[in-house]
Amino acid sequence: MDKQSRRPLLGCIADDFTGATDLASMLVRAGMRTVQTIGVPDACATLEADAIVVALKSRTIEAGAAIAQSRAALDWLRAQGCRQFFFKYCSTFDSTDAGNIGPVADALLDALGADSPHGADFTIACPALPENRRTVYHGYLFVGDGLLNESGMETHPLTPMRDPNLVRVLQRQTKSKVGLIPYEAVAGGEQAVRETIARLRKDGARLAIADALSDDDLRALGAACADLRLVTGGSGVAIGLPDNFRRAGLLATTTEPALLPEVDGPAVVLAGSASKATNAQVAQWLSSRPGMRIDPRALARGEAVVEQALAFVDEHLAGRQPQPVLIYATATPDEVKAAQSELGAAVGELVEQALASIAQQLKARGVRKFIVAGGETSGAVVQALGVQMLQIGPAIDPGVPITVSVGEKPLVLALKSGNFGSVDFFAKALRYANGERP
Ligand code: ADP
Repeated sequence: MDKQSRRPLLGCIADDFTGATDLASMLVRAGMRTVQTIGVPDACATLEADAIVVALKSRTIEAGAAIAQSRAALDWLRAQGCRQFFFKYCSTFDSTDAGNIGPVADALLDALGADSPHGADFTIACPALPENRRTVYHGYLFVGDGLLNESGMETHPLTPMRDPNLVRVLQRQTKSKVGLIPYEAVAGGEQAVRETIARLRKDGARLAIADALSDDDLRALGAACADLRLVTGGSGVAIGLPDNFRRAGLLATTTEPALLPEVDGPAVVLAGSASKATNAQVAQWLSSRPGMRIDPRALARGEAVVEQALAFVDEHLAGRQPQPVLIYATATPDEVKAAQSELGAAVGELVEQALASIAQQLKARGVRKFIVAGGETSGAVVQALGVQMLQIGPAIDPGVPITVSVGEKPLVLALKSGNFGSVDFFAKALRYANGERP
């Protein structure tokens, strides 16, 4: 296969950042070289990638805005040459009666069908992720041993999921007819699924919830979806898609998908997450390595906290044996609550901006590797670093890959959302950042 002439095959649109990373990691594991973009890039890029994942923040915004962003992402992915498209949402089907899963899926089918109706008149919707115990049976979504509406998701502040029947849930979001690919068909394998899809199409369905209990079920579904222009689901459904490209001779079986360019330079760890896992990771780091705490009150008083942190990093990197340090705002939930009631809700952004500013100035001083804890914090940091695209490497811990930014002067980044990662995540991430593969 001529490597130079290869263009991206699968174009993915994810409705949030960590979901995009989860999907990208899954595709790398399944053998596709994958690049993740943060938002829709301004220009075309020449990317050495088999799959591209555009990370949007469209899960809980108004449906019209989610459609507009998703259409823009689709246009950009089509301009890169992608031939099949994937709309990724959460494995708990996070949405409301107003959207955004139904409206976005409809809009993407409309856009794809406008040029050529072939394969763009129908798609599946399947949030199953068996390895995290999200399974779908007769249209009902299970989280672990119980139904979705008994999983805690029924009280989610933005997308309360009170109905476990996804055919009903999706039907409330769309005028298109929603059908079901039942477990009997999925267990029957690719051909049985294809026959069910043909029957559903004949009945006028445009979307269908697909049952799946295992990764084998997801592989059967993936194979049966080879000719669909759009597939929608959680990251699990992506398990079955790379093999379609392999069977068509479009995807090498031999490439090392997680091979990242080497990057030299010092590293730093920044933590702005106050989640339980991050608190434990910070404590573990501080038991044997240097760290400095960012105090939100000192920030609010306008003290030179950023400068102090930069001096702390300099001091530890300047010695004969440079030592990476941790700069953290991480605190217990009680401490965070106290800071919020004293300083107002804007304290979160104050802390994020301080960490982002530290990252930006450290980059200017030659730091090349950033390990970041916190979803919102990671967003602020990548923006401050001017990073738009990430090449995805192997997973440090489930759902958190090591990545390298695309462009001149690449940076190594590990972006961890709150509750991810084992207790020694920071040290492990540093080893990955230095090119070791523990
Ligand atoms: P997670 O992924 O754990 O939710 P985020 O970075 O998304 O982490 O969110 C954590 C929020 O808490 C950020 O806005 C961050 O600035 C804020 N924060 C972190 N430490 C403190 C603190 N000590 N006091 C108040 N807010 C804090």
